[in-house]
Amino acid sequence: MSILKNAVDSIAIGLEDFESADKRRIVSSARNIFAGILLLFKYKLCELSPIDSDEALIKQKVLPAFDATGVVNWVGKGNKTVDVQNIKERFKSLGVIVEWQRLDRINKYRNDIEHYYSTLNNESVQQLISDSFIIIRNFIVDELDEDPKQLLGEEYWKILVDVNEVYEKEKQECNSSLLGLKYFNNKILCALQAYNCAKCGSGLIESTLNTGHSIESLFKCRSCENELYYEDIVNDAIDDYFADDLYLSHKDGDDAPVIECPSCFDGRYLFHEELCVICGDSATHECSRCGISIPPEEISDGDICGYCSHMWDKLMKE
Ligand SMILES: [Zn+2]
Ligand SMILES: [Zn+2]
Ligand SMILES: [Zn+2]
Repeated sequence: MSILKNAVDSIAIGLEDFESADKRRIVSSARNIFAGILLLFKYKLCELSPIDSDEALIKQKVLPAFDATGVVNWVGKGNKTVDVQNIKERFKSLGVIVEWQRLDRINKYRNDIEHYYSTLNNESVQQLISDSFIIIRNFIVDELDEDPKQLLGEEYWKILVDVNEVYEKEKQECNSSLLGLKYFNNKILCALQAYNCAKCGSGLIESTLNTGHSIESLFKCRSCENELYYEDIVNDAIDDYFADDLYLSHKDGDDAPVIECPSCFDGRYLFHEELCVICGDSATHECSRCGISIPPEEISDGDICGYCSHMWDKLMKE
């Protein structure tokens, strides 16, 4: 029971930090709420651990041991408890469902707020609290079979619900302002909608224009009022948006989804969408000499593949 109580206390303290007028408590707000969520997860792992296994599922180290009757059991050893990666693996293998993408976003924000963001304000933590609200509510209801309002207490539950509501509404307004603009490709819109302000971490990025082309628009962070030009944010937004795909393509040896633009060298070039997010140019994807599909690492401002270009150079030298 004590892990569950610690989890609830940590979330409650995090919410008190958030409500406080003292700006120094913003970082601890993010830290406490995230810690509280991990404790909820650990509580579930304790509940699922076999009796007499010394809470094996929350220990990083689990070793086989004979019990009194000579049967082999898996028993937790040492004091080190599971980290986020361990929890992910164990939950996946046990069929416990968590929206990991959302949790990773909370974790990234918590990490960034401690190390990178120069401007801290209560508004920029709203996204973390809104994400946390969804994770906490779903986990308590679906995995712990409890009533979140009762477990967290009405006062804290209300803060979560209210912040989520405000954030969702503002996020929707931002999204529809972005939706009013034209883009070279729809993926760019999606990337900008998912983008977080580099100064304060807020996800509330809106366009200051309601119509026209995105490359001519000025964007603004609602939370710290930082104003941003398209060229200043689009590459970062694309990198964040495609980070998982890039990682996977690298791991599996597939075509990289994003490369450097061979035409302007300034923008990211979306390989599958066949365009640069800054200059809007399209490179040649089919070799005009041999007809193969040119792979991302050979895309250039010419119209032949790497092999043909090599053969051409050789011919010219002879
Ligand atoms: Zn900002
Ligand atoms: Zn370009
Ligand atoms: Zn070729």
